[in-house]
Amino acid sequence: MDESERYDVVIVGAGHGGAAAAAALRQRGFAGSVALIGAEPELPYERPPLSKEYLAGERAFERMLIRPAAFWREREVTLLLGQAVTAVDAAAHRVTLADDRVIGYGRLIWSAGGSARRLACDGHDLAGVHTVRCRADVDRMIAELPGVERVAVVGGGYVGLEAAAVLTALGRRVTVIEARERLLARVAGAALADFYAAEHRARGVDVRLGAEVDSIAGNGGAAAGVRLRGGERVAAEMVIVGIGLVPAVAPLLAAGAEGGDGVIVDPLCRTSLPDVYAIGDCAAHRNSFAGGALVRLESVQNATDQAATVARHLTGTDEPYVAVPWFWSNQYDLRLQTVGLSAAHDEAIVRGVPASRRFSVIYRRNGRVIALDCVNAARDFVRGRALVTAGAVVEAAILADTDVPL
Ligand SMILES: Cc1cc2nc3c(=O)[nH]c(=O)nc-3n(C[C@H](O)[C@H](O)[C@H](O)COP(=O)(O)OP(=O)(O)OC[C@H]3O[C@@H](n4cnc5c(N)ncnc54)[C@H](O)[C@@H]3O)c2cc1C
Repeated sequence: MDESERYDVVIVGAGHGGAAAAAALRQRGFAGSVALIGAEPELPYERPPLSKEYLAGERAFERMLIRPAAFWREREVTLLLGQAVTAVDAAAHRVTLADDRVIGYGRLIWSAGGSARRLACDGHDLAGVHTVRCRADVDRMIAELPGVERVAVVGGGYVGLEAAAVLTALGRRVTVIEARERLLARVAGAALADFYAAEHRARGVDVRLGAEVDSIAGNGGAAAGVRLRGGERVAAEMVIVGIGLVPAVAPLLAAGAEGGDGVIVDPLCRTSLPDVYAIGDCAAHRNSFAGGALVRLESVQNATDQAATVARHLTGTDEPYVAVPWFWSNQYDLRLQTVGLSAAHDEAIVRGVPASRRFSVIYRRNGRVIALDCVNAARDFVRGRALVTAGAVVEAAILADTDVPL
């Protein structure tokens, strides 16, 4: 097929990483042609408010745009929106769009994020079963909400818990169904998980731990509840599935890129394909804050910092990606800020009293501070970040003492 257009840099995925890469290239004086291709019809927008202020009706979509339309026009970034890339030809340096249009590239930056993982059980595709990944998902939920009294949230991760908090505040009766024995099992320690379970329960959320979904029960084509293994049925007109992300990397893997759960990149975010980079949620990289393990991080920080790494590389400065990971989550009036990666901790120290609703959990490994989860404790977060960056060795008693500033 003939190539109808060609750009020096083609960016696939007009989300956090893609937008940051295009903006950083221009900020660094990159003068070549740049195209930003996105499957969604919208201008690049911030995803975190989807399960927070946008779902709550507190933030208009226009206030979630990463940049206004004029920004992209002025910087001569060609936006090809509502267009999904279906194939990559790495040898010919071309991508194919869903409508068969073929676009050539000098360098390709893959920042396609991923799609929400879906349930595979009976009833998974009934009306009223939702995932929370893009604006259209949340618009569908908002449109249905007037007819909904009871909501079942499948998955006790951050996205599910944020949605549970918003819908509870909007007066819905919410049940959270989590297969593991605690909430946030993949990302946080037990102290934080127990705290959030208690907070949700105190507001009337029915938190079910160790509860596995058997199927979604239907009534006339619409969801009516969730059947649990063991036979119990949780009644709900709306089911929100928050069970993780499937990286959108099929075209890259089909083109021969090394990967599996995401596409593997080196410290400059290069994939194994020539002139092809990957950043953000879909990029599996060795992270020094995870002890050099191969990880995929799903955070705005990771997407924007990896975008900066590629933009620097393409404008002549090679600086490996070594940014300290950080993340936030808002539930009710609780602002959680996390820094570092806690997964490999061998000790968790609670600083402050969780019942005061202002405390931190500090994670150590071999005596070194590797991560913090800070609830309504912004100062701990700021100072803890320096400790994590330095890999500081600090005595547990000092870390726990709120009279000693971190
Ligand atoms: C509900 C929700 C709440 C979140 N809250 C937080 C938070 O509080 N803090 C935080 O740090 N992070 C949060 N995140 C995670 C954060 O939004 C992501 O880590 C970030 O968006 C990753 O950026 P990205 O560029 O990798 O992917 P995305 O921002 O997802 O962008 C990828 C884009 O690529 C498009 N695309 C996919 N396939 C193709 C294709 N084949 N062709 C063209 N386009 C394609 C997608 O449609 C999408 O628009 C949240 C995410 C969600 C869904």
